[in-house]
Amino acid sequence: SPEKKTPEKRPESSRKSPTKLGEQNMLLGVTGAIMVFSSVSEENMFLKPYVLNHKIVKKFKVEYHAGGATQNSIKIAQWMIQDPHKVCTFFGCIGEDTFGEILKQKAEEAHVDAYYYEQTEEPTGTCAACITGDNRSLVANLAAANCYKKDKHLDLKENWKLVEKAKVYYIAGFFLTVSLESILKVAKHASENNKLFTLNLSAPFISQFFKDALMEVMPYVDVLFGNETEAATFSKEQGFQTEDIEEIAKKAEALPKINKKRPRIVVFTQGKDGTIMTKGGDKVETFPVLKIDQKDIVDTNGAGDAFVGGFLSELVQDKELEQCVKAGHYAANIIIRRAGCTFPEKPDFH
Ligand code: ADP
Ligand code: MG
Ligand code: MG
Repeated sequence: SPEKKTPEKRPESSRKSPTKLGEQNMLLGVTGAIMVFSSVSEENMFLKPYVLNHKIVKKFKVEYHAGGATQNSIKIAQWMIQDPHKVCTFFGCIGEDTFGEILKQKAEEAHVDAYYYEQTEEPTGTCAACITGDNRSLVANLAAANCYKKDKHLDLKENWKLVEKAKVYYIAGFFLTVSLESILKVAKHASENNKLFTLNLSAPFISQFFKDALMEVMPYVDVLFGNETEAATFSKEQGFQTEDIEEIAKKAEALPKINKKRPRIVVFTQGKDGTIMTKGGDKVETFPVLKIDQKDIVDTNGAGDAFVGGFLSELVQDKELEQCVKAGHYAANIIIRRAGCTFPEKPDFH
């Protein structure tokens, strides 16, 4: 049953694992998919997206990482869960090319059950990350990541079956720029079946320039993620008239919601500062992040995505929200010690 149970009511034997996880029936992420180039250089680069593939690779020392915010979160969730494999399913869009093949291979290595819509009009999306000291600049060429089509993929019987099997859904706000109709279809399914639909604000520009799309989806959102700047921009755009992050969280929680069986949970991370979470009923709590020596931080890119992955890995097991936040902080703390959104073989989280 998707109904959330309190731990007290669970029989002793199942307390450690309140929900038995099975293959490809738990967490589903839908979005584009991109390949990330991390280039370390002294120079400032302003390359037009279409030359990325060629120039960056030739001119600089480049590392490749499979990416896309949602795909990273889903991989982290599966990594946190470990067993069984393929608890997490991922839908995305790629081209028929080498980078597409790499993304497929990487998903397999991460034991994520990925189903890509493979189309021939655009190549697999890419993103260049130019890192100079503490600063970074990202230039994305969405290409195929912009081409996901509901009728070409989500609607297909075999794919929709996977949606029906899942009980938690995660979609990044970025995807609002690609396929609102896909998001709405999944969101409505979740709402009608009292399953969990979760969304990330993803970037300030989503709240600003995709406001209508965002607010069309909001009534279906059970868990809303974001960072401090996204929260501030959201507040401004919604006319909340407050810059206080706790107040913003409460106001976001109170926005109209279709499935009244669950209160909306709002989770705002704030980098090194404590994470804010609403839990229904006018309560907002702050959870300190794990301490880390700032010089041990290698790369904070993907920190928020890792947090979401950790959070979702516990949420799909019906764990308490506090435990979800703990897992999010754990995953984020691991990822910021490493380049890109990469992780060691096994997590050490209990
Ligand atoms: P985003 O990547 O979306 O901007 P945040 O910057 O809020 O997300 O980071 C998400 C999580 O990553 C934080 O809640 C925290 O656990 C961890 N984190 C990020 N930056 C730092 C930092 N400077 N020191 C400690 N933890 C951090
Ligand atoms: Mg941040
Ligand atoms: Mg983020």
